[in-house]
Amino acid sequence: MQKLLNYINGELVNPVTGNFFENINPAEGKPYSLVPDSGAADVALATEAATRAFAAWSTTPAKNRSVILLKIAALIERDLDQLALAESTDQGKPVALAKALDIPRAAANIRFYATAILHESAHTHFTDNDAINYTQHTPVGVVGCISPWNLPLYLFTWKIAPALAAGCTVVAKPSEITPMTAYLFSRLCVEAGLPAGVLNIVHGYGAKAGQAIVEHAEIKAISFTGGTATGKIIAATAGPMFKKLSLELGGKNPNIIFADCDFEKAVSTSIQSSFANQGEICLCGSRIFVERSLYQKFIEAFTTQTKALVVGDPLNEKTNLGAIASEAHLNKVLSYIELAKKEGGTIIQGGKQVKLSGRCATGYFIEPTVITGLSHTCRTNQEEIFGPVVTIMPFDTEEEALVYANSTPYGLAATIWTENLKRAHRVAAEVKSGIIWVNCWLFRDLRTPFGGMKQSGVGREGGFEALRFFTDEKNVCVKL
Ligand code: NDP
Repeated sequence: MQKLLNYINGELVNPVTGNFFENINPAEGKPYSLVPDSGAADVALATEAATRAFAAWSTTPAKNRSVILLKIAALIERDLDQLALAESTDQGKPVALAKALDIPRAAANIRFYATAILHESAHTHFTDNDAINYTQHTPVGVVGCISPWNLPLYLFTWKIAPALAAGCTVVAKPSEITPMTAYLFSRLCVEAGLPAGVLNIVHGYGAKAGQAIVEHAEIKAISFTGGTATGKIIAATAGPMFKKLSLELGGKNPNIIFADCDFEKAVSTSIQSSFANQGEICLCGSRIFVERSLYQKFIEAFTTQTKALVVGDPLNEKTNLGAIASEAHLNKVLSYIELAKKEGGTIIQGGKQVKLSGRCATGYFIEPTVITGLSHTCRTNQEEIFGPVVTIMPFDTEEEALVYANSTPYGLAATIWTENLKRAHRVAAEVKSGIIWVNCWLFRDLRTPFGGMKQSGVGREGGFEALRFFTDEKNVCVKL
């Protein structure tokens, strides 16, 4: 079985203990490769390498850093098919989605920051002709980047790219559930000639390797994307060490549909925002609120289109929903469907595990599931399920829709469907979410900041904010 390796000091190496664990292909429910079971000793080696590399990398001219990063982006594009296949095999998503979304976006992330760094600027103020005040940004040092399993290479590169572009060196850990593309990425970094120690990738479990990154005294900033519960543990560890922290956490996103919407578009995009990537995107709209006069019509169209979705082998181009990422997650999602029934919900579509035949006979598949009849306060509508499960509720007034939308501890994303421009702005201003889409979903401009409110996170990623996050800021006042 293929053994993945850590990437430390420019080399692909075994973990210190020599221990590996199995990497499961969720479409088959079977192991297909072995992952280094790294711990504090591997993180220490990676951090030493990153510390040694920092002096040279942080003073390498931005245009030279940019050239290497652009080379890596080009290699990702060259290996699109191989990376998409790896992403699909690791995560369970349809290979077509990995090819169209995950891998191109990984290359785009790197291109964006490789070129953004060339245009970085800082403020200067002349103070009454008495002084010049200027702001200086310097790379913060060695940083830790920890990413989840749902969009593996996409989110991994979104953290690493701004850190490297800003001049930091990095110790990174992908989710142990989806390590393959990060491993292939490390091989591309070697091929591109990234200097030794600038990026180090340590594979392993979060509680061991991840926690060791967060605890390491030489790691000055942590950029984390994952669940809110893990975010709390990370904040509790890194807070007293006064590390810079960026936490991109879970969501329970509202999708508000007014009767005056473009109906066809609202339905077809809501199918996407509910079930894309098996609903395993932090930005999926898992709670759909529909104005009562449109409710029945929406339910009929939405369930008809949901029924038509193909749950199948991720390698089949016709598949809409592939496998759930892991057995543990499959059981979690199924347990929430049971909870919804106990809470009085009606499953109007789906609700069951899917048993496929052939190579996927023992894989982890769930029908896209639509639930009605629940209150906005029940656990099903309050807790993140992170699977192909949506609830639909009617509302009577704009005020009521806002109460429902804002009723969870989360505040990551929201979608609003209306042709009324004034209402669109009014509701967008009142919904407590870090990103709001009006008449669209998952439309991203990488220049815009990104991040959650409430328990969906702290800090903003994306755009120039991410570059700034990886720097120390200093104001210098020169008396004239
Ligand atoms: P987790 O929080 O379980 O894990 C995220 C990463 O943190 C993994 O690499 C994990 O390793 C690691 N980790 C776990 N425990 C620790 C620890 N104590 N110290 C350091 N690292 C640790 O999230 P999931 O992987 O389950 O991802 C799904 C979650 O991510 C969902 O809640 C989703 O909403 C959220 N998410 C948020 C996004 C956003 O931008 N706001 C975007 C995408 C996802 P391991 O896998 O080995 O446990």
